[in-house]
Amino acid sequence: MEEWISQMQGFINTPEKLRRIINPTPEELKAINTLDTRWGTTPYFAALMDPDDPCCPVRRQIIPSLKELENTYGIKNYLMFHENRTVDPERPDCIARQYQDRVAFTVTDTCASYCRHCFRREVVVDQRLKLRFDLDQGIKWIKKNKEIKDVLVTGGDPFLLSDQLLGDLITQLRQIDHVRMIRFGTRTIINLPQRITQDLMEILGDFHRVPIWINTQCNHPKEITDKTARAVFDLLRCGVNVGNQAVLLKGINDDVDTFRELHQKLVYTRIRPYYLFYCEAAPGIDHFRTGVEKGSQLIRDGLQGHTTGLARPTYVIATNIGKIPLMGNDYMIEKTEKEYRLRNYLGEETILPNIPDEQ
Ligand SMILES: *Cc1c(COP(=O)(O)O)cnc(C)c1O
Repeated sequence: MEEWISQMQGFINTPEKLRRIINPTPEELKAINTLDTRWGTTPYFAALMDPDDPCCPVRRQIIPSLKELENTYGIKNYLMFHENRTVDPERPDCIARQYQDRVAFTVTDTCASYCRHCFRREVVVDQRLKLRFDLDQGIKWIKKNKEIKDVLVTGGDPFLLSDQLLGDLITQLRQIDHVRMIRFGTRTIINLPQRITQDLMEILGDFHRVPIWINTQCNHPKEITDKTARAVFDLLRCGVNVGNQAVLLKGINDDVDTFRELHQKLVYTRIRPYYLFYCEAAPGIDHFRTGVEKGSQLIRDGLQGHTTGLARPTYVIATNIGKIPLMGNDYMIEKTEKEYRLRNYLGEETILPNIPDEQ
């Protein structure tokens, strides 16, 4: 049996299995036993949890918390609101749309870890909202809507589909003339790197008119192992670009040192940071949310100038009207008719002439 399948069969999602890996606290056990929620992870990812520290950054993303019962800032019916599922009746459940040229195509609600901060938790984690994710329906819709050039395949985790289904999906999307790129959002590189098998590499293929881009989600340097590095390298070898979409999480990556270490380790592992997401307004995740300006401050104080620009993601908030950048401009301090006064990361200043744009 393939190792990734045995990892999924050994899924850690009961107190008994959890006890073999960590020493759960009474609070954690109470949350597991009382919350009506889907939880768990692979044995591989579970092994990255600190057995004795409930504040371990991996552990907090995996083990349910009673704090999930609190909800001050979350929006009820968040997913329907966020994905505009109520405004366009012609669109199947599997297609979320906020832009003209691209869509998010949900192909499954299963994951290799049920992140406690999941922004689609109403469908994926709590499963209160039942949507129908029908691949054929989605492909048909994309075929008909010729302005769609970029298909972001998401979930759940699309890499939990079988090789057969993934292969068929990629082949069918690549046969649509107006589709120019395929993207996958998958956390398997982080929580199930065994998924990147030789067979999968053959399915992803090599040179093709329609390239494949992957974005994973890594939120803490502890999540990156030698196995991650190998999986990323294997993906790059078959022509697949690998990026990261981190989520800003209170107590996990919202301090300058961890934040810098995370982004440096990503580029050292050949993963290009793409987005840093402000933790979204899904219900029950208040305890993960920071102030809005925290993300741009961390990029300013932890990354910009302190390490390569390749490590710097764009800080955004994903809203119902699309992603909105939340980057501050801390570097242009003054503009006159004659010149700009600029500041670097150390506070040193320099001058740039203001050249008028002639019409
Ligand atoms: C995030 C998202 C996309 C992709 O946005 P990019 O900025 O191109 O990465 C597309 N459609 C929906 C509905 C999304 O939420």
